[in-house]
Amino acid sequence: MGPESGELSEIVDGVYAYVQPDGTWWVNNAGVVAGDGGVLIVDTCATAERTSRFLGLAAAATGVDVPRWAVNTHQHGDHSYGNSLLPESTVLIGHRAMRAALATDPMIDQCPPAWSPVPDWGAVSRRLPDVVIDAGLTLYSGDRRIELHHPGYPAHTPGDVIVWLPAEKVLFTGDLVFNGLTPLVAMGSAEGGIRALDWLRSFGAEYVVPGHGPLLPGADVPDVFGKLESYYRLVLETAESGRREGLSPLEAARKRDLGEFAEWADSERLVLNLHREYALATGGEVGLMAALRDAIEFNGGPLRTTV
Ligand SMILES: [Zn+2]
Repeated sequence: MGPESGELSEIVDGVYAYVQPDGTWWVNNAGVVAGDGGVLIVDTCATAERTSRFLGLAAAATGVDVPRWAVNTHQHGDHSYGNSLLPESTVLIGHRAMRAALATDPMIDQCPPAWSPVPDWGAVSRRLPDVVIDAGLTLYSGDRRIELHHPGYPAHTPGDVIVWLPAEKVLFTGDLVFNGLTPLVAMGSAEGGIRALDWLRSFGAEYVVPGHGPLLPGADVPDVFGKLESYYRLVLETAESGRREGLSPLEAARKRDLGEFAEWADSERLVLNLHREYALATGGEVGLMAALRDAIEFNGGPLRTTV
């Protein structure tokens, strides 16, 4: 699934989802919101090639070459490394914690050999938000109201931001929602993930653009969110029983029957999610490289990507 497989589709007039199949590691979704006051971009992509394609399609669809604003839903490179390809005059917005995290992100300089093929970011450089938000912010593009909200606690990461269009009932969730793939909470928490799903349900969206995986119609939200919630509960239960039995996160993951979640891609994320729950329980930090090594061992080889 190369960069050419990404598709920009219009959800409602002037509002677009950019969905890149199949949503595995480093292959994210993004969005575009047009209005009389200018264009807002939701996230960039991991590589220069993927970001250029996305921004080119956005410009062609909206007739606007220079977006007025861009928002990063969170710190991860698949949603933010392409920031530096935005025109200089585009105002970049992100959460305060997201900005701090991207400033010290180690992978843009040297990606560890955890993925196969090893990602080649191309000509991108670290571009940090110009504007940081804490709780939220409301923008208007002409009459179109665009709301940015932070859940108020760590979920996928500490600095998650969603983009909500109240009139159109379109919700861009970033990685608070993975549609059809194993979700990751290794920089947040499973409990935060569950709380965030409740919070997202309260918006009553008719269309959800997830961070990875296909566009989600409102009618499918109960099923998809319910399954994500069940998965997070499995993570919590596995962490608790694993710690009780003195198992390492890797041993606990291997012992766990994934059941209905086995069909989701990137199942090795269970190991990373368990590392996080173990660290939260002991007040420690996740050793990212050690956790990735365990995930690779669980996976039987380097993690999958197509960037
Ligand atoms: Zn992410």
